[in-house]
Amino acid sequence: MARVFNFGAGPATLPEPVIRQAAEEMLDWHGSGMSVMEMSHRGKIFVAIHAQAEADLRELMAIPKNYKVLFLHGGAAGQFSIVPMNLLRGKATASYVNTGHWSTRAIAEAKRYCKVSIAASSEDAKFTYAPRQDQWKVDSAAAYVHYTPNETIGGVEFHWIPDTGEVPLVADASSNILSRPIDVSRFGLIYAGAQKNIGPAGLAIVIVRDDLIGQAAPFTPAIFDYKAQAGADSMYNTPPSYTIYMAGLVFQWLKRQGGLKAMEEINIAKARLIYDYLDQTEFYHSPVAKEDRSRMNVPFSLRNAKLDEEFLARSKARGLSELKGHRAVGGMRASIYNAMPVEGVKALVEFMREFERTHG
Ligand SMILES: *Cc1c(COP(=O)(O)O)cnc(C)c1O
Repeated sequence: MARVFNFGAGPATLPEPVIRQAAEEMLDWHGSGMSVMEMSHRGKIFVAIHAQAEADLRELMAIPKNYKVLFLHGGAAGQFSIVPMNLLRGKATASYVNTGHWSTRAIAEAKRYCKVSIAASSEDAKFTYAPRQDQWKVDSAAAYVHYTPNETIGGVEFHWIPDTGEVPLVADASSNILSRPIDVSRFGLIYAGAQKNIGPAGLAIVIVRDDLIGQAAPFTPAIFDYKAQAGADSMYNTPPSYTIYMAGLVFQWLKRQGGLKAMEEINIAKARLIYDYLDQTEFYHSPVAKEDRSRMNVPFSLRNAKLDEEFLARSKARGLSELKGHRAVGGMRASIYNAMPVEGVKALVEFMREFERTHG
């Protein structure tokens, strides 16, 4: 069976060389006689795999020394709670920017722990744009400001880093981490679930500035206390070891591609292929404000929704998989993360053209 081009939003496609390497190392990792998933997380081999993964991530993202890198359980949604538990630091309020599905979910969880003040929202336009900096009203008493740099479902991306002054900026970068270089020093905390741009599901990566940890709310479970996890090298308990190993292989693959600057250029080129086509057709429609279009998730619809089922069936038969949009939005969505090769995007655009020609 040939591999398909998988446009799923997450769990998402992984680089083929990474999967091949994992397959080769599956039964016997480098003469150890066992699979990485069978090894003690405290053994020499796994400790080295873990340390290499962290070192490679630090190098790729140029993470400053005064930031901790944590590999945790619970995915990104776990961080919706874990962030307030750790970062409120006795304050009563946190500020949130609401740009769609994932921001809304983060806000709902935060409300269990504090008062949420909404710094900005794009709900007035059905979450199809990123509110500009001059539309933000950050509560200066807030413990932090949380935003979602890429809304995976709506396909809205901030192509700039907000300035929140003295109030630490927190980003749920689940769906655009590693897609471009960013200045980590502008953030108090960055978190991401792994299954979009990092590796298999089951892992959240947290990059947090030193001075923000150590003041978790007293009720915080120890495995969710950043300080406890940082002090234990993310091994307060057994970490998701195999997922960390896989993430490490992805980091090495990214380095071989030339790092994040090179990935950004490829991602811009891939996104341009599909958006340029969407801009010159009446057959399909892209709902997102042009300047805020995501490079990672491209939602689009057929003007004639009666053709949706046929579009999906025919694309699938072509080896173009998982194009159905999220049930909250409908239509189609092509997720084109780092691991989606440019050939996949070309094949998609070619198919879309042909479908237009035969059904337009
Ligand atoms: C997928 C996603 C999540 C949820 O991730 P889980 O790992 O399933 O908890 C949260 N935020 C964003 C932006 C996402 O894309």
